[in-house]
Amino acid sequence: MLKKLFASALLLSLALPLTASAGDYRPGVAAHRGASGYLPEHTLPAKAMAYAMGVDYIEQDVVMSKDGKLLVMHDTLLDTTTDVAKRFPDRARKDGRFYSSDFTYDELRSLRVTERFDVKTGKPVFSGRFPDSPIAYQIPSLEEEFLQVQGLNKSTGRNVSVYVEVKEPVFFQEQGLDILKATIDMMTKYGYNSMESKAILQIFDYEAVVRARELGWKGELAMLVTASGQGHIDDKARHAWLQTDEGLRDVAKYATIYAPNFNLLAVPTEDAKAYTISDLGDRARKAGMKLHSWTLREDSLPKGFRTFGEVLDVAFKTIKVDGMFSDFPDILVKYLKDNDMR
Ligand code: CA
Repeated sequence: MLKKLFASALLLSLALPLTASAGDYRPGVAAHRGASGYLPEHTLPAKAMAYAMGVDYIEQDVVMSKDGKLLVMHDTLLDTTTDVAKRFPDRARKDGRFYSSDFTYDELRSLRVTERFDVKTGKPVFSGRFPDSPIAYQIPSLEEEFLQVQGLNKSTGRNVSVYVEVKEPVFFQEQGLDILKATIDMMTKYGYNSMESKAILQIFDYEAVVRARELGWKGELAMLVTASGQGHIDDKARHAWLQTDEGLRDVAKYATIYAPNFNLLAVPTEDAKAYTISDLGDRARKAGMKLHSWTLREDSLPKGFRTFGEVLDVAFKTIKVDGMFSDFPDILVKYLKDNDMR
């Protein structure tokens, strides 16, 4: 299948013009974990900074505590963005890692959130970003995130929405925690369970996308897709299927948004020196879904690209995504303004 995909990608890249007129094209910008290029990810200050940058969406990744509370952090593991290993050294599992579902809400709230670091070396993942510091940044609850966005919408008169990812529903189910239902219930409580609210629920797990509708989710729903799969065991095969026409037609019955990794749209060549534009985005649209993608980082370019400007041109002028995640949402907002797309 990959070979076929590649051949059609090559053909398409020849057929597509590199420039396009903007017109009424107005792609959405989602702040990935907040303005995470500038402040530690998934902290309320990083979210407020993203809001002030003029984004359309602020992202929340949701995990669950042992006592069933919803918190906002990227990993089910706690040790890459907090001081948990120092604070609770005897609470690691056999694999040496610390899991949110083994800690109560109060314990999780007592942790200090830092810039993301490598657990083996202790070095920051992105060396140019916010330094390690003693500032007592906390893990926000999902409720606090909603309150901050809605509070800012009131005080500024703007209408920014939320883009909520349920992390690893199968893992939490195994811990006896129904994270999907709890997240939908919380979003419903805060008025997000409708298309009009613009709020988006996003999930890597196909079964959970289907179940979200069964649980009564009425709003925008994004199927996240990767080359590698993510989470539970059959995901790699499932995510390959999600890129076939049959898979696209099927998931379009539930999802309104198809959201592949950017490297599935601009596919790096084997030597990673160039890329070809695949037809995946067009096929997803043909199946009736909007096209979103992730994640653009100025300090870590997608394979095959030489400048961030080139990445932005391909995303917004060639592929014309309907929405894009970035750690540096201010650069995207400025680019879209400069190019009459905002
Ligand atoms: Ca996410």
